[in-house]
Amino acid sequence: MGCLGRFAPTPSGRMHLGNVFSAMMAWLSARSRGGEMLLRIEDLDTLRCPKENADVLRDDLRWLGLDWDHEQPCQSSRSEYYEEILARLGETGTVFPCWCTRGDLKNAPNAPHASDGHPIYPGTCRELTAEERAARLALRPPLWRLRVPDEVIAFTDGHYGHYEENLARECGDFILRRADGVFAYQLAVTADDIAAGVTEVVRGRDLLSSTPRQIYLYRLLGAETPDYFHVPLLTAPDGRRLSKRDRDLDLGVLRQRYTAEELLGLLAHAAGLLERRESASLRELLPLFAWDRIPQEDITLDPFGS
Ligand code: GLU
Repeated sequence: MGCLGRFAPTPSGRMHLGNVFSAMMAWLSARSRGGEMLLRIEDLDTLRCPKENADVLRDDLRWLGLDWDHEQPCQSSRSEYYEEILARLGETGTVFPCWCTRGDLKNAPNAPHASDGHPIYPGTCRELTAEERAARLALRPPLWRLRVPDEVIAFTDGHYGHYEENLARECGDFILRRADGVFAYQLAVTADDIAAGVTEVVRGRDLLSSTPRQIYLYRLLGAETPDYFHVPLLTAPDGRRLSKRDRDLDLGVLRQRYTAEELLGLLAHAAGLLERRESASLRELLPLFAWDRIPQEDITLDPFGS
């Protein structure tokens, strides 16, 4: 099978410089090996992701020249498919309903915490009897969790190398569907990448620690995992991670100050693909792209500096 990369943006706001960088790396990586690109709008949280944002996002990608060959229906329209996937996972005996609130988990005595600070699920609802479940169900709808094994899930990231996590000890039983019915990112992203036949996932290294959970879902669903390449994050000169809060670094502002080629050149220079900060088209950058030229450390960038 040929290579299929993807853009999977969450349109909760205008594209940000960090999103542009990840999208550019995904495009260069797939295109440099003759691959195709897929676009999927990840708007599971419809309140945070109004439809207009997706149109602006497509326009921003086109403006940058980051083209795609296929577009998957956006996540907000795929609940039926996710229900099916949840049911398939249910058949493996690993899914259970849970009525714990965030407050319950935070206040649990001696609860160990995962590296990202969330409390590891203590198993409160894991072994409820049918009667106990029925009694709770009569009060309010549950959320749904996946029971994880006490096992190390390891993989080799194409950029960061060996990465592993013991899901039971370092992550805990994780949520597949929230009590309000919204499907969780981990389930939707895995289900969609499987449906589309994505072979290569390129994204920010903030998602490196989600990867073992997703690999475990691939295993339960009997699907082959894609290759993963995580990319460094962009930080401001004061060390802060660039985020959507920095309105001055979203494409609405950047498009007024730069041409697409200036912006691509700036990012390519910061990523080590260009020796000097100069304009560059994607066509010019394509032959320069190689994973071993991209740093592993986060990239400090001051787009308005000299
Ligand atoms: N939708 C996620 C984001 O915008 C990316 C998901 C992924 O690449 O797996 O951060």
